[in-house]
Amino acid sequence: MIHTIRLAAASRWPLWLASTAALALIATPVTARPVKPKPAAAGIVSPEAMRVHRSLLTLDTHLDTPALLSIPGWSILDRHDARRDFSTVDVPRMREGHLDGGFWAIFTPQGPLTPQATRAARDAAIIRGVEIREMVAANPKVFALADKAADAAKIAASGRIVVYMSIENAWPLGDDVTLLDTFYRMGVRISGFAHFRDNQFADSATDKEKWGGLSPAGKALLVEMNRIGVVPDLSHSSDHALEDALALSKSPVILTHSGCRAVFDHPRNIDDAHLRALSAQGGVIQINTVYVKAEKRDPAAVEAFKALMAKYPETRALTAQEHAAMLAERRAMEAKYPLIDGPTFADVSANLLHALKVAGVDHVGIGADWDGGGGVAGMEDVASLPKITEMLLKAGYSREDIAKVWSGNVLRVLAAAEAEAAREAAAPTS
Ligand SMILES: [Zn+2]
Repeated sequence: MIHTIRLAAASRWPLWLASTAALALIATPVTARPVKPKPAAAGIVSPEAMRVHRSLLTLDTHLDTPALLSIPGWSILDRHDARRDFSTVDVPRMREGHLDGGFWAIFTPQGPLTPQATRAARDAAIIRGVEIREMVAANPKVFALADKAADAAKIAASGRIVVYMSIENAWPLGDDVTLLDTFYRMGVRISGFAHFRDNQFADSATDKEKWGGLSPAGKALLVEMNRIGVVPDLSHSSDHALEDALALSKSPVILTHSGCRAVFDHPRNIDDAHLRALSAQGGVIQINTVYVKAEKRDPAAVEAFKALMAKYPETRALTAQEHAAMLAERRAMEAKYPLIDGPTFADVSANLLHALKVAGVDHVGIGADWDGGGGVAGMEDVASLPKITEMLLKAGYSREDIAKVWSGNVLRVLAAAEAEAAREAAAPTS
């Protein structure tokens, strides 16, 4: 089946649902995301915690919000409500939660590895990148594209939102790893390899093992990342792919949105041995809010949601009217099948604190997977982010430690990728 150019549908459904076919391969039961309670209002943390939080440069390494940009009538400048349209990031809520910006993802759900589908995915990924640039170009007083690691602080100091770009799933690159340079020129500074399924570059954490880690093409892609200064992202890739990247990358690797298997045993998360290996290599894990705890809901919910998905297929662009109707039906469905048990802010905290304990404060950050399934009871959207700072202060971490978690560590890793690219550019060719 031909994939359409539009990937707006990537945001239409939560990732847990869009990936049910892939997830069926693994043991963990698929359950629905919780009904989003009322978003947290200002004053959710102490004035002292808020003062510290506002003094920090705060970046999230996995914002799936770009998938919302092409929804008719949806504007990132407007304030939205997670209970009504299931979105979690917009400018007013970023201001309220003091999120300075981050890495805005070009996400491509994995399709068949045919030349035709791959070319369509390539075109869609380029369009998504253009949409991110258009968001910045249309609002130059609100957003600014970031180039180097050093740019983030300058942009935030100017009162604008920091926009680095990232690739989630390198499938659109096809068999031409030099295409990564085109995306680099668009603004991409982090790239993953695979998503929920194996592809030409790597085994997925949620698929059967095909390559035993990175494929030969994946290793060539890693060489290209190091050459041009893109940070390799091993979230979604298998443990063996992570091991290959740790062994072969000449600069530190990142997990842009992952959790700890010791807290929640799920293939998307990593165990303590890999966490220590990541730390030893100089890399960083950015804690997400999706795979933090097993969820329990009426089994009928999954079937009901699948039927709703079939009614509004991902491959068809919706009119504004259809989109509104789809949201209304989804709200009704969320109300009909309430969560029996699900993740809360305490579970996100447990993942974060465990990673800090095992990997160390120089190797942990935040990548909550907003608009990609992220958000839990007690931290429903980015307006709630000061709670993370307050929780870390209460756990005994200093302002300097928390500054590393909120941006220092990822920017160190990005700067290291820049330094490696500069070193290779200066090295005599053999
Ligand atoms: Zn993801």
